[in-house]
Amino acid sequence: SRKDKIIDGKKIASEIQEELYSEIQVLKTVSPKKPGLAVILVGNRKDSQAYVRMKKKMARKLGIVDFEKNLPENISQEELLQVVTEYNNNPEVNGILVQLPLPKHIDEETILNAISPEKDVDGFSPINMGNLCMKGRDPLFVPCTPKGCIELIKRSGVNISGKKAVIVGRSNIVGLPISFLLLHENATITVCHSRTKDIAKEVKDADIVIAALGAPEFVKGDWIKKGAVIIDVGINAVPDKTKKRGYRLVGDVDFEGCLKNASKITPVPGGVGPQTIIQLMKSTVEGFKRQNGIKKLL
Ligand code: NDP
Repeated sequence: SRKDKIIDGKKIASEIQEELYSEIQVLKTVSPKKPGLAVILVGNRKDSQAYVRMKKKMARKLGIVDFEKNLPENISQEELLQVVTEYNNNPEVNGILVQLPLPKHIDEETILNAISPEKDVDGFSPINMGNLCMKGRDPLFVPCTPKGCIELIKRSGVNISGKKAVIVGRSNIVGLPISFLLLHENATITVCHSRTKDIAKEVKDADIVIAALGAPEFVKGDWIKKGAVIIDVGINAVPDKTKKRGYRLVGDVDFEGCLKNASKITPVPGGVGPQTIIQLMKSTVEGFKRQNGIKKLL
């Protein structure tokens, strides 16, 4: 039925939240310390501010200490590096996240490179990205949205090994890390991008489709093989006069069209979206345990 096909991303995120909450309660019994997350925000971008607010709210709910740093748009690269170094050296901080994008005068790579790999909860530092892309290496952290996509697939009872996965999008934040995570799960991967000749043809072969390109309803229903699993990472605002705010959110997948042949599909909103934050919290707790020598508890 329709309902069985739709992956309830909100429900899965709240299940993970409960599991994490219980784990943090147990951690309290073995350590007097609390997990700590530092979120660094530079400038006044409304979207970045909103993401940071949501991250802090979730941290507080779970009993993760949040270290807040809101820095002015015109901060120098040197000063920002100093903030990162302070957090690198602060034992109460287990995870450091620099909200992207950064202002143009700051070199993103230099900043990401400065975050200690042990605290790089976003997984974007070169060492963690490099280890993600190499066989037999375990990165300390993997990027949160991609990690969430894998968790959604697994918690929906889908076996990834041996499947053909087609990923549309190759960004460092989403497409590329998802591709490598799926490869590690023993999928056979095809990565499509703006120069791919015939994306429809590639998608038609896929058992698992990941849409992460940022184009509203790009993936069409007649591209979908019967039984395919579809993960829609896209978040696009399209004008809609019937809505009070004047727009509505759609994914990179034509949801109604693709639902027909799919065995599982994530909606937008309420699919991948809620994963990013909860995976960030999970990664922070993983960092806390690793940095304090606490092995598996539950
Ligand atoms: P980017 O713009 O960084 O990357 C887009 C990728 O898609 C690029 O690799 C680009 O190819 C490819 N692409 C773009 N247009 C086309 C096209 N018409 N045909 C084929 N390939 C195309 O985006 P992100 O990866 O950062 O984000 C992708 C989507 O996911 C966005 O909608 C974003 O809002 C959403 N998102 C959602 C998150 C969440 O749910 N929490 C988190 C992050 C992102 P090329 O490399 O050749 O330029």
